[in-house]
Amino acid sequence: MIEKPNDIVKSRMYARQQLIDGWDQDIIDNGVIMIIGVGALGCEIAKDFALMGIGKLILVDLDTIETSNLSRQMLFKPGDEGRPKAEVAAEKLKEMNPYLKVDFYFEKLQKLPMSVYEESDVIVAALDNFNARLDLNKICLRLKKPMVEAGTVGFEGHCQIVIPEGSGLQYKKKESEIENLVQTRLWEITEMEYPEYFEAQRKIEELEEEIEIIKDEKIIPLEKKFRKEIEMVFDWKHAPELLDITPCYRCLVPIPPADDKLVAACTLKGLPRNRNHCVIKAEVEFEKKYGHKPDLNLNDEVLKLKDLAHVELVKLRERVLDENVPPEKQDSLSEEEIKEWKKNIEDTFGPDYKFEEMENILGNKIAAIQTVSSVIASIQSQEALKLLFRVNGRNIGAPMDPPYVNYNGIYGQFDHLNIIKREDCLACGKIEGEENVQIVVPFDADVGYIFEAMKITGYELDSELWMITNPMTKEIYWNPYMPSLKDPNIKLTSLKIKSNEIVSLTPLGKALTESEIKKYNVIITFM
Ligand SMILES: [Zn+2]
Repeated sequence: MIEKPNDIVKSRMYARQQLIDGWDQDIIDNGVIMIIGVGALGCEIAKDFALMGIGKLILVDLDTIETSNLSRQMLFKPGDEGRPKAEVAAEKLKEMNPYLKVDFYFEKLQKLPMSVYEESDVIVAALDNFNARLDLNKICLRLKKPMVEAGTVGFEGHCQIVIPEGSGLQYKKKESEIENLVQTRLWEITEMEYPEYFEAQRKIEELEEEIEIIKDEKIIPLEKKFRKEIEMVFDWKHAPELLDITPCYRCLVPIPPADDKLVAACTLKGLPRNRNHCVIKAEVEFEKKYGHKPDLNLNDEVLKLKDLAHVELVKLRERVLDENVPPEKQDSLSEEEIKEWKKNIEDTFGPDYKFEEMENILGNKIAAIQTVSSVIASIQSQEALKLLFRVNGRNIGAPMDPPYVNYNGIYGQFDHLNIIKREDCLACGKIEGEENVQIVVPFDADVGYIFEAMKITGYELDSELWMITNPMTKEIYWNPYMPSLKDPNIKLTSLKIKSNEIVSLTPLGKALTESEIKKYNVIITFM
């Protein structure tokens, strides 16, 4: 067969990776990797697979490029600001590798047709928030698709692989697990208990050297030959006893942290009490003054916002001074003493705002740096690569085991964590129809606010169809069918609900049959 010029260029491009034991470029050529989130991790991973010659990449991101992305997300360059990340990344990746197919979606992952997920061999989660990860986790479990999840915060990061039940993929070998336990037992015995065992061990050591020589000459070469032959044709589908599954993402997050929007909503109900509150309050003042929310991409709007935040910060400092030293007492203090107080307060609440703080605070941005993103993204790519081979019936290496690794960039240390599958996991466990939710409420919140907070968290419940009770005492706090228990203005504190207590929300009437969730366990934290 005469090879086409394109084929020759392609095979030259991938020449070195084809030297890896067990490699099959056809699997890469026909592979489909879906990357959800095209940020610091997503850019790296997409680049890795584009360079390796993946058949198709599916990129999903609902964000547009911001200037602050340019310090990490190397598929974007100055001038790309404002354009959809997924689209720009697709263009850039096609430049890197013209043979690549890229589909991109400037869309929420929850809104994508399931066929897009189904088409993918491996799904890579490169997301920056809990809720998106939880939703993606659910989708992967339902479709039985392997997922490689990761995240970074400052100098730390983690990577977790999720192999759902029924995916047909091997994760752990039962035999090697049992062997590990046997070895552990052997390590624990003493010579008093088993003298013959120790005697035998010593004899073995004496013979060992001789055995090694014979092995090297006569045994190992043949073993190596057979192993190589068997590895080339071994098919996991025919070894169901080796199947296993990993814990899912939700197993590690039994109670997702309260939605940031709730904290912001609480701040608005009271006076700002910290540096971040002042900026959130300033955003509201901005909207009142200019009739729209500040556009954080426009420098002059950010400057106006910063001025408003400064006003709030000054008021906060004054309030704290008055709380500590009542105004009538302030006259009796010397100028030096007042100065000392003011300095202490400024140390507590920080100096005047910097420009970039506005976006960092309002966007709930977390620390991020390219070095750590590269490390974590490379682990993700490597795990996704092994899974891609495995999905296609070939073994080029086992998924990392345990399936979770943490990286600490300060100590340069990797820690593999033994994570546990939770039988009561709301995503992959056996309990159905329950959901744990954490909400943050202001101190003077009333019963009605629970429904409001649930709505902000993403659960819009009809207060006419849901009952609120104390799961321990069974006391009813809210029952829409009973007029005496239907006052939305009753304060939670007057119901003796304390911070971090749990209330249950259960459906009534048609919600009983229509709601997929039969019970919400709601942890209420007062702010
Ligand atoms: Zn789970």
